[in-house]
Amino acid sequence: MRSPVASLIFLAFAIGSRATESQSTLVIQNVRVFDGEHVLDRRDVLISNGVISEVSSSRLTVPRGATVVDGTGRTLLPGLIDSHVHLSDSAAADLRQALSLGVTTVLDMWSAGPRYEVIKALRSADAPDMAALRTAGIGATVPGGHPTQMGGPPTPTISDSADADAFVSARIAEGSDYIKIVFDDLAGLGRPLPMMDRRTLIGLVSAAHKHGKRAVVHVGTEAQARTAIEAGADGLAHLFAAPSVGSDFADVVARHGAFVVPTLTIMYALCGQPSGAAVMADSLLAPFVRLPYRSRMTIPWKQTAASCDGTNEAIRAMAARGVPVLAGTDSPAPGATYGASLHGEMELLVRAGLTPTQALVAATSAPARAFGLDDRGRVAPGLRADLLLVDGDPTADILYTRRIVRVWKRGVDVRRARY
Ligand SMILES: [Zn+2]
Repeated sequence: MRSPVASLIFLAFAIGSRATESQSTLVIQNVRVFDGEHVLDRRDVLISNGVISEVSSSRLTVPRGATVVDGTGRTLLPGLIDSHVHLSDSAAADLRQALSLGVTTVLDMWSAGPRYEVIKALRSADAPDMAALRTAGIGATVPGGHPTQMGGPPTPTISDSADADAFVSARIAEGSDYIKIVFDDLAGLGRPLPMMDRRTLIGLVSAAHKHGKRAVVHVGTEAQARTAIEAGADGLAHLFAAPSVGSDFADVVARHGAFVVPTLTIMYALCGQPSGAAVMADSLLAPFVRLPYRSRMTIPWKQTAASCDGTNEAIRAMAARGVPVLAGTDSPAPGATYGASLHGEMELLVRAGLTPTQALVAATSAPARAFGLDDRGRVAPGLRADLLLVDGDPTADILYTRRIVRVWKRGVDVRRARY
């Protein structure tokens, strides 16, 4: 057992070494850079004090004591962002799993009870071995509405548009980074649940905006999606699983300047095309998935749509009109898990019709911009050194995001946890 003094010295050493680690200087040489939007060939990238300080097309002088990493044949990307997760009661482990797979930020879309307190503490700590996070905290739903049927701690609900401002103010006071609203009766999955009326939806979106927050809406159908967009929602937390889509849907979304997190991993499962088994069959992903999550990857969904042709058509049309499409997984829903499924989601976005570069934008600069995370999502001077180095060129083949060489969070080299 350590004496109290030895413990103090040990603690000082631990803090000291962590500080040194985060302040270490690093040069990645001769690397292809995907900067969050475009490809830059043969760059040298300098990182100091956890921040990207230079991205140069000429050879940089290596500062004394700096670590040099050879980027030849490799691509440097911004750390990936998962725009739709739900952290579990093992939130710290979830965040370690995400980071080990190159996901440096996750956006939590509903938290309540003691778990929410843990999540807020993890959000503030922003530890070097865990993905960073933002959270919706407690979302808005009506009494008996989704997700109250799933159990979990009791949460305040809203049933009258007159209460919208008070509801939103209370959420912001608790710590919500954005306001999540459920506008879905889950009718496709069985007996419909109570659902919010349009006036309350509009009231909540307006209240969020009045308080300077974004409103993100969970929808399950095209009709619900259109109502949410018309209500002024900043974004949709899901697209819909459908064999067809209205020809003006993408125009409506584009006209309102909204973003969409399709969560194709879930939509395809609802169309009878689950993808969790394929993710777990990939030896570049599976070893990094914690044991408790592995069996969840093949839990089947009830099929609610004959095909996802309409879902894919909507994605192609939105991309063509410049609607920000964001990569999100809805982990830990059946068939989806932290980190691994974001690589799967990018593959599905490409299968739906995005280019690999558009799929990478969906997991980097687009979510950073959509959620106002101005310090990340791109490889540019002054931004957090949340970075992913992979072998090969994922802008040519999206599967190369899985060939991870290194992950850095705020300039600290991540020791990737295998299970
Ligand atoms: Zn969700």
